[in-house]
Amino acid sequence: MNNFRIGEGWDTHALVSGRPLILGGVSVPHHQGLLGHSDADVLTHAVIDALLGAAGKGDIGRLFPDTDVRWKGAHSLDLLRQVMGVLRHEGWVLGNVDTTIIAQAPKLAPWMPAIQSSLAQALGVAIERVNVKAKTAENLGPVGQCQSMEARAVVLIDRPPGQATGSA
Ligand code: MG
Repeated sequence: MNNFRIGEGWDTHALVSGRPLILGGVSVPHHQGLLGHSDADVLTHAVIDALLGAAGKGDIGRLFPDTDVRWKGAHSLDLLRQVMGVLRHEGWVLGNVDTTIIAQAPKLAPWMPAIQSSLAQALGVAIERVNVKAKTAENLGPVGQCQSMEARAVVLIDRPPGQATGSA
């Protein structure tokens, strides 16, 4: 019997002045950035939650609570690497990651290859296994009014027979 698991993740952060905009570990030039305890990398947070969901390990807030000073200003890609390390240790192999960034501005198309490559590197997989899409919110709601951004992610992981089952 196969041992596939699917996981989904979603995140949102407020968009404010005076913060860098970090998406998938890539610094995207913009006059606003995302507000948060860490670097507020909304895309990476969605991917982390999708991975944790697939592995049945709760969510990002349980592993890296925003009340803990250790994670203040944390690079989310480092957290992603840690999470991927835990899954790998337990014998999980990443099949693919599909993501969507929902942002009214800036235009993200020029940054997609860099974002995709950055996520793939942190995940330790070939770039073909990572897909990043971007949509606007058609000027609707807080995302459409440039007050926030959202990201969604879906992952598929597999634990081939004979792999470590870890301590869960
Ligand atoms: Mg977040």
